[in-house]
Amino acid sequence: MWGVFSPAGADDQSHDVELQTQINEDNEQALNTLLWGLFDNTSDVSWQHKALCAQTDPEAFFPEKGGSTKDAKRVCAHCEVRDQCLAWAIEHDERFGIWGGLSERERRKYKRDHGLTRMREQA
Ligand code: SF4
Repeated sequence: MWGVFSPAGADDQSHDVELQTQINEDNEQALNTLLWGLFDNTSDVSWQHKALCAQTDPEAFFPEKGGSTKDAKRVCAHCEVRDQCLAWAIEHDERFGIWGGLSERERRKYKRDHGLTRMREQA
């Protein structure tokens, strides 16, 4: 408040504005980097157009706890984009449903067996 009336105060205000501008630019840059990283990883979903599950009952792929996964896995076994589907689910840490022919528990084991859990923790 008192600084407003002195030249030194004006400099302080100018510095504060510059500092705030820099912080805003840094935040915007960090946000853009984060968002572009996310979009880069999710940009190629062209494989989903060939997903066999899109032609079947989607509920089979999200069974209730303790429900059967057989029907969904049977469909996945014949799906031509199974590898891409599994890779996508692993990369995006899908928690629910059948992806690439594997249940959530099976995907966790897959990640452990392939050292992917540790890689994600290190990232
Ligand atoms: S592998 Fe299974 S869940 Fe994945 S796209 Fe094919 S049918 Fe759907």
